[in-house]
Amino acid sequence: MPVNLARYFTFPGDRTGGTGAEFPVCGLTLSTAGPMKAGEDDGNRQRVFRQLGIVPSEVVSLRQIHSRVVRIASTAAAFRDLNEGDGIITASETVVPVISVADCMPIYLFDPVTGCFGVLHSGWKGTGIIRSAVELAADEWGAKPADFKVIFGPHIRSCCYTVDAERADYFTRAFGPSCVVLDPEREKEGSRWPWRLSLAEANRLLCLSLGIGESNILDTNDCTSCSTDYGSSRREGPGSFTHMAAFIHRH
Ligand SMILES: [Zn+2]
Repeated sequence: MPVNLARYFTFPGDRTGGTGAEFPVCGLTLSTAGPMKAGEDDGNRQRVFRQLGIVPSEVVSLRQIHSRVVRIASTAAAFRDLNEGDGIITASETVVPVISVADCMPIYLFDPVTGCFGVLHSGWKGTGIIRSAVELAADEWGAKPADFKVIFGPHIRSCCYTVDAERADYFTRAFGPSCVVLDPEREKEGSRWPWRLSLAEANRLLCLSLGIGESNILDTNDCTSCSTDYGSSRREGPGSFTHMAAFIHRH
């Protein structure tokens, strides 16, 4: 695989090491792949997907709206137009769910029992989307939360993600106090954003509350804002950041 274009991750329990033989293949394109936003960068996306061994006509993407809306994709043809939403799940052997990120967290999930899998776009507004995905998979395929394997992909971490008191308070109440830490240096400076927010911790607490076991969660630990390997809205600036494509597939 052309590792210079994408980074790959392996689900907990995948004894084949992410080859796709047992569990789906999960990856995230890197800055070197160029801009990968659906509907805007389609020429580049098709070129990169082919290089990654993904058939472009099997890719399903959405017009992302920072929501908790998850869609079921049974076929790629039904998603020719960009439907609104922020998560895609499927049980198809051919559909390739893809979402765009650039500091928001890509969450990959797979249930080895029912075979359903998908990828979610989870920024601060969308935190909680994994609950929507797990509930939808339960309705559609009878999937049980305890069977899910989850990967928290690269995203902006608490080292770089500073927020105001209002957002810190929201996360404390919605997910738990361990999601945020008050930075004494920033507080002393009088910063309006003195709190450090961990989206991974919020999602970890949420997964545990849903019944997903700690040993079934892999956190990749990479920070998109720290590492120039990744696109980052905060580091590159709101007008010119590089959207990356988070993909998951079974073939
Ligand atoms: Zn960082």
